[in-house]
Amino acid sequence: MLKVERLGVRYGGITALREVSIEVQQGETVLLVGSNGAGKSSLINAVIGLVPAASGSIRFEGQDLAKLACPARARMGIGYSPEGRRIFRSLSVTENVLSSTLGVPQAKARENLAWMQQVFPLLSERGDQPANQLSGGQQQVVALARAVSTLPKLLLLDEPFLGLAPVWIGRISEAIRELQRRGTTILMTEQMARPALKLADRAYVMRSGEVRRSGTVDEIRELALAEEYL
Ligand code: ATP
Repeated sequence: MLKVERLGVRYGGITALREVSIEVQQGETVLLVGSNGAGKSSLINAVIGLVPAASGSIRFEGQDLAKLACPARARMGIGYSPEGRRIFRSLSVTENVLSSTLGVPQAKARENLAWMQQVFPLLSERGDQPANQLSGGQQQVVALARAVSTLPKLLLLDEPFLGLAPVWIGRISEAIRELQRRGTTILMTEQMARPALKLADRAYVMRSGEVRRSGTVDEIRELALAEEYL
């Protein structure tokens, strides 16, 4: 579904990614794991079109994304939940969740919202509340639901556990499992390897802008856990 080949990303003189190649097949959950500055967000941001590729290519369902801006990539079926959640603080929970659904047929958006409210009851319980009144974990649910609101084929989750208490890491994990049961293909990044490895089929261990190793979760577990403490 997603094929990144020899991708390079640079910020001025800083090389953030060097010759990075990864693949995500339909139905898989793939994890990018690595410490601070490994290049995980740069890879996600290059896939959604927030940062340009300096070299290499990104293909989604066989189509080269190079010339497509962020909205076109979203319309193709790439959903995104950013690091640090970045919800709209003064909008209500429901407004946040529906804020990306322009272009989604209304009946579909409503049906999807009803599904999400069933999976994440706080979306209806707190629907009218301003999002800034929610806890970090609750805000992560809103960010997840906003990303899912466009019915993406591929869901990108950038550090969904960042700053969350263990109880919320458990709840967000359960929400991600629910999305997996629905058949969503997921590419997620995490510094916290331990809980993230429980959700993934395969993983890429990144360090200093390069992929150090890839494999099934069992194959890379030890290295991934070691990177967590770098
Ligand atoms: P984190 O968990 O801290 O977000 P990460 O693995 O997602 O880490 P990136 O954020 O992709 O890593 O950063 C990769 C490298 O690129 C780092 O050296 C970082 O300092 C640098 N970098 C990231 N964004 C920028 C930017 N906007 N301008 C300059 N350098 C940047």
